[in-house]
Amino acid sequence: MNGRIYHIRNALPELVELEALIDEGRDSMRISVPAHISHQNEQLPIYAIEMGSRAATAPTLAFIGGVHGIERIGSQIILAFMRSLLHRSQWDEQLQQQLASIRLLFIPIVNPAGMWQNSRSNTNGVDLMRNAPVEAEHRTPFLVGGQRLSARLPWYRGKKGHTMETENLALTEVIAQTLFSQSLCISLDCHSGFGYRDRIWFPYARSLAPWPGLPDAYAMTRLFEHSYPNHNLYLFEPQANSYTTSGDIWDYLYDGYRAANPNGVYLPLTLEMGSWLWVKKNPRHLFNYRGLFNPILPHRQQRILRRHITLFEFLMAAIANGPAWVPATASEHQHSLQQALERWYPERAKETNVLIP
Ligand SMILES: [Zn+2]
Repeated sequence: MNGRIYHIRNALPELVELEALIDEGRDSMRISVPAHISHQNEQLPIYAIEMGSRAATAPTLAFIGGVHGIERIGSQIILAFMRSLLHRSQWDEQLQQQLASIRLLFIPIVNPAGMWQNSRSNTNGVDLMRNAPVEAEHRTPFLVGGQRLSARLPWYRGKKGHTMETENLALTEVIAQTLFSQSLCISLDCHSGFGYRDRIWFPYARSLAPWPGLPDAYAMTRLFEHSYPNHNLYLFEPQANSYTTSGDIWDYLYDGYRAANPNGVYLPLTLEMGSWLWVKKNPRHLFNYRGLFNPILPHRQQRILRRHITLFEFLMAAIANGPAWVPATASEHQHSLQQALERWYPERAKETNVLIP
């Protein structure tokens, strides 16, 4: 066995799994390494993998995981899905046709050194989800909203005025390159640890005000709920309904997309798997920091790996069929906006002239 693999097998089995997948799927994947992170005498690669169409205009769906190193289950569900796609694409002609019309992008382990050391932050103590140059428009919850007091406290944003951390620069480079020129794209960043429900969050994290993509987010939410009425696992909502933060990387990337492509549709979604459910079912999680964010027992882990496949496949179908659901005309847009405001911003829905930025 390769010595390096032996060395990281215990610390970072997800990376070993990803490299095995890359070996197996090399012919149907385009692989890049936008950065390496130095840790424990290793140069840990951040991999970005593309599958599907190479056409410049192909609608694009991105899966991101491991931004918070401790939330390994996010990387694991992406790896399981990649493996399944790879194996199915060898015999499933419908899948091959679908992949010919869309592009998939995977960045399953954004923060490999953080994952190695089982921490939320990277090895500089920076929380990558508080590190972007974005300021909250409202008072944020103490610490959780992002803080610059100390790298030894959680939710540290990094020093004011410094460039973003290497992991975020790598993520930004790949997302800008792959998504910013597309007229329809969705990204799903997979996290765990918040609450009893699985949530699908959309921007903004920095503001309580509706964001420009709200009508599209509403249309996608309705499409899912209408298509899978019994798959009612998810609470779709603006992240700011739970809490506002400074430094959110998806706020930052969404603003970048909009500046580059003002008429395009981009939904940066975050899946927050509600791990308190696992904690409640098995209090052993409470005595194990990693267990607060990840299922411990194999049967529960398998259940989580299965649980989100419907969502992932739905997103693939949605990105391939944008004209069927993205509001296109001014009146469709207005209708979707009004419904969205009634659902998520009931106070604003009562105002007669709602202007969104
Ligand atoms: Zn997280």
